[in-house]
Parts: sequence; C-alpha cells; structure tokens
Amino acid sequence: MNKVYLSLGTNIGDREHNLKYAVHMLQKDKDVKVCDVSSIYETAPVGYTEQASFLNIAVLIETSYSPLEILELCQSVENKLGRIREFRWGPRIIDLDILLYNQENIESENLIVPHPRMFERAFVLVPLMEIAQEPLTSYLQKAKSILSEMDIDQEGINKWKTTNGVEEFVQV
Ligand code: ATP
Ligand code: MG
Ligand code: MG
Repeated sequence: MNKVYLSLGTNIGDREHNLKYAVHMLQKDKDVKVCDVSSIYETAPVGYTEQASFLNIAVLIETSYSPLEILELCQSVENKLGRIREFRWGPRIIDLDILLYNQENIESENLIVPHPRMFERAFVLVPLMEIAQEPLTSYLQKAKSILSEMDIDQEGINKWKTTNGVEEFVQV
C-alpha cells in the first residue's frame, strides 16, 4: 500500500463541514483508507492576503492508486464540493493537494511531488508533522527541521479544534 499525505484547505462557507465532507468522500472510495487526520488549524491567508482566514488539516491515506489517480480523486472531490477557480491562490471552498507519495519524486506536467511549495508553508507543515508517522522518511525529516526553524507565532497558525481523528471525520 502507498502512504500519501494530503493537505486540505478552505476559506469559504461552512469551513469545518467542507473539510469533513472532503475526508468523507476520500474514505468512501474503496481503494482509499483514511489512516489519520490532524487537528484543524485556523491560518492567516498567505500570498493574496485580502481574503478570509483558512481552516487547514493534513490527512494520511493508504491507497493502491497511482499518484495521478490520487490527483484525479482530489480534483473530483474539489469539483463535488463546487470549487470554482477564480484566480490562483484566491478564496476556495476546498483545496486538496498531494504533499508526499511514499518517498517518490514526481515531476509530470500535472503533478509535482513533493508539493513544490510545501516546505515554505507553515500552514502545511504544522498539521503535517502532527500526523507524520515514525520512522520519518527523509522528506518528513526535512519538513520537521524546516518547521523547527520557523517562528510559528509569527506565521498566524492557531489550533482551531482538536478532533478525535479519523472517526470524527468519516462519520459526516
Ligand atoms: P498551490 O499549488 O500553490 O497550493 P493551488 O492548490 O491553489 O495552489 P490548484 O488550482 O489547486 O492550485 O492546482 C493547480 C494545479 O496544480 C492543478 O491543476 C494540478 O495539476 C497541479 N499540481 C501540481 N502538483 C500538485 C500536487 N502535488 N497536488 C495537487 N495539485 C498539483
Ligand atoms: Mg494548494
Ligand atoms: Mg491545489
């Protein structure tokens, strides 16, 4: 089975519901097992800052899918939740990004893994390291070491809700 870490974010509508619905949709797929879900973090927008704050989580899944099949699944969940792409890094109902796929390096036209901007984003690294499985793979070690150099208080990342992990998410 392949271990895949995902990052989910939302800043439109009922944000908690959007996250839970998305995880529920992942779990419903017969080739996906949701193994862990982080706490929910509220995070200040990065890049385009004139927008509402986000809720972010990290999710660990086990799957038989290839990287491109996971990307397709993520995009189908985004579409089901009604994501409209107005402009890059703008407000969104839901964003599902693939952070890590095992320890693979992928550079295809539609998919780059590790996610090309993950190591500069505290809103990705904080939830990710909460669920990172030991022993840490080299990319997770890198994430841990970069995160330890960041000033989290300055990054606008706040724990919004501690959840009961997977159960709370898949029972929507
Ligand atoms: P960012 O990638 O900076 O987080 P975004 O998530 O808002 O921005 P999207 O509009 O969701 O960007 O995706 C744009 C494209 O990124 C997608 O069509 C997809 O093909 C591509 N992409 C490349 N690598 C990845 C990845 N690791 N996970 C998800 N999408 C990816
Ligand atoms: Mg993204
Ligand atoms: Mg995306």
